Amino acid sequence: MDKPTPPLVLKSRHSPDSQAARIRRGAPVHNMARLHVAVALATAVFVSVIISQLVYSFGFPQLDFWHWQSDQDFHHGTEQTHLYKGKQSGELVEDPSQYLIGVGKADITGPVVELNLMGYANTSQVGTGLRQRLYSRAFIVGSPSDTTERFVYMVLDTQSGDTAIRNGILEGLQSLGSEYSVYTQKNVAVTGTHSHSGPGAWLNYLLPQITSLGFDKQSYQAIVDGALLSIIRAHEGLTIGTVSSGSARIADANINRSLYAYLANPAAERARYTDNVDKTMTLLKFTRLSDGKDIGILNWFAVHGTSLLGNQTVIAADNKGVAAYLLEKDVAANADTLNAAPGFVAGFSQANVGDTTPNVNGAYCEDGSGSECKLEDSTCGGKSQDCHGRGPFFGLDDGGVKSCYEIGKRQYEGAKSIYGSSSFTEITGKVRSLHSFVDFSNYTFTLTNGSVVSTCPAAMGNSFAAGTSDGPGAFDFVQNDPGAPSNPFWNVVGSAISPPDETQKKCQWPKPILLNVGQAKVPYDWSPNIVDIQVLRVGQFIIIVSPGEATTMSGRRWREAVHNAATKLVAVETPPIVVLGGPANSYTHYITTEEEYFIQRYEGASTLYGPHTLNAYINATLGFLPFLADAATGTSPAGPTPPDNREKSISLINGVVYDGPGIGKSYGQVQTDVKATYAVGAIVSAVFVGANPRNNLHLESTFAAVEKRGDDATWTRVKDDTDWELLYEWKRVDGLLGSSDVTISWDTGLGASKGTYRIKYYGDAKAAGTGTITAFNGTSGVFSLV
Ligand SMILES: [Zn+2]
Repeated sequence: MDKPTPPLVLKSRHSPDSQAARIRRGAPVHNMARLHVAVALATAVFVSVIISQLVYSFGFPQLDFWHWQSDQDFHHGTEQTHLYKGKQSGELVEDPSQYLIGVGKADITGPVVELNLMGYANTSQVGTGLRQRLYSRAFIVGSPSDTTERFVYMVLDTQSGDTAIRNGILEGLQSLGSEYSVYTQKNVAVTGTHSHSGPGAWLNYLLPQITSLGFDKQSYQAIVDGALLSIIRAHEGLTIGTVSSGSARIADANINRSLYAYLANPAAERARYTDNVDKTMTLLKFTRLSDGKDIGILNWFAVHGTSLLGNQTVIAADNKGVAAYLLEKDVAANADTLNAAPGFVAGFSQANVGDTTPNVNGAYCEDGSGSECKLEDSTCGGKSQDCHGRGPFFGLDDGGVKSCYEIGKRQYEGAKSIYGSSSFTEITGKVRSLHSFVDFSNYTFTLTNGSVVSTCPAAMGNSFAAGTSDGPGAFDFVQNDPGAPSNPFWNVVGSAISPPDETQKKCQWPKPILLNVGQAKVPYDWSPNIVDIQVLRVGQFIIIVSPGEATTMSGRRWREAVHNAATKLVAVETPPIVVLGGPANSYTHYITTEEEYFIQRYEGASTLYGPHTLNAYINATLGFLPFLADAATGTSPAGPTPPDNREKSISLINGVVYDGPGIGKSYGQVQTDVKATYAVGAIVSAVFVGANPRNNLHLESTFAAVEKRGDDATWTRVKDDTDWELLYEWKRVDGLLGSSDVTISWDTGLGASKGTYRIKYYGDAKAAGTGTITAFNGTSGVFSLV
């Protein structure tokens, strides 16, 4: 564990009675020296008590605080130390370490049934219920004196950011009037956690729409509306405060799933790092000045949202959703000891996720051999389909649910250890942001070795169809080729994709082109050729907002390039801390290094713009970076506008026709009731006469609940859709009658206490003929947990 922060600094940062606060309200400063000594002594005692209390409560942190810099630090041996600058008494200057800060969170859970899940590109993975609601979490950082210098970093529980979603958010912000006109193309970053278990059909381009049968307005609108609400909440809560950064190593939450490609990177470069994935979590803490309480944290850690497997069909936010849920719940329950404000928001943002996997036990052949998959291509006996990554609880046949919770818990524990530590670096300096669209269909630039190179129109290589050990065998239309495809969407669009010409083949070499998506424009653009280049800066903390999934080494190179360039742009006494967040803004699939591209595993095959893709991103980023300088004036060029396909997108997704309770039944009626008594640890479940949950998404509300009976016989809700252990499942019983069943199950093994309970179901039915939607609810019998 690191040394505690010097006590004087801690006090001056976190107390409303800081010198800065005194100066602002005109208090005399001549006694400052004596006051400092007194404050220092008192704080030293205070800090010792807090630290000993933390150690007593949690034990010494098991995470390795000593080696995190191997991932993060590019000073070649220079340690990043605490950068507090002494403030000189009596100076009435603006405090460069004070910011306008705000956090907000809102529900974005779209249709949880009868819609394809986004991520695995598996047509048969269609939603059947809800395990955990999805959220947008918004973090605003701004200059207190200059309203134009502000950014919003958003973390959505979605597979990625997206052009359609981002356009919807930006339009929504505009419609909110002049107060919100500060939030623009330039400073709004829409990132996804890269969960593979959320509803799909909200993306701007055609390729990811194929498996979801097109675009679904309800799915799209739920995300846009919730994202907007999270920004409104963050904006309405804006307050003066400080931002500080900490980090920790999380050893056991990710491994590399594409090691053979990683090993193609130069040995000398690999030798600079202790691991073949980044194991550092970097965290920002937001502390308000009014009472010194923390309003939220935002962290970056690279691990795929593929703990929940492609064979499970219940909506959840995968491991980062679990991590955020556990930390927010913990903080809410222990707000006093943790110095947290009510409404504390925890953002777990994705990082250079490309070749990472949460299936940390490795990838094995499920063909009876039990051997490890082939290193070169992750196959078993020449096939991809039998190779599967194993999470910590592989083998339970639970769709990865328990492994997902465990990988989420490990990230939560990592974030908690940073949050509970006293080792934070103060963030100080200007707030800046930049955003430009750049056309990567033919972006020409000079490499550092002097050669002039170009990118190419987007294309997918053969290995894209093979998938990964997290989800082998993507896109059934490829497997069915040349026979009749089973996907009706492919029947509509399949003939519209043109083969690549010689120039494109040469440009993309050595990628064998499977889908020439960048040159496919019919019925509308299949994949983005125009990419978002965006970078945000608060003081010495710089966030690269990546539209694609950068691999481990790609992220390191990109961060290092920005770090080295930024050193000249920010004050020398505050070395830059650079993170990479994404996939964001528009989904541009993968970004590998040139060496990894030549291997053409899944990640290389999905690197859209040819071998120089990564260097093009780096080159474009560095070109615009001077717009982040303290003295920068003007903004980076807007660039070409990407196509907006929201209104032209095909949809073969049918709406709800009607519901019916079934003959002799009523909605909400209990079909299979709970038992009278369960032991703690059992799974309690009840089945109700249901209706289609797409009739009402119950945003900011719940489909399922558990209520506990108090001593005075009143009922209090103790579990709802936000809780991992409460599962809502919907099943169509009879299409003609419109009847369906809803099963609500409560896993009492995750910390349930003894008592008397009942289960509630909240539904909405659509009447045949009139189409009128009517709310109803159901209540199970009473049961005891003993
Ligand atoms: Zn991915």
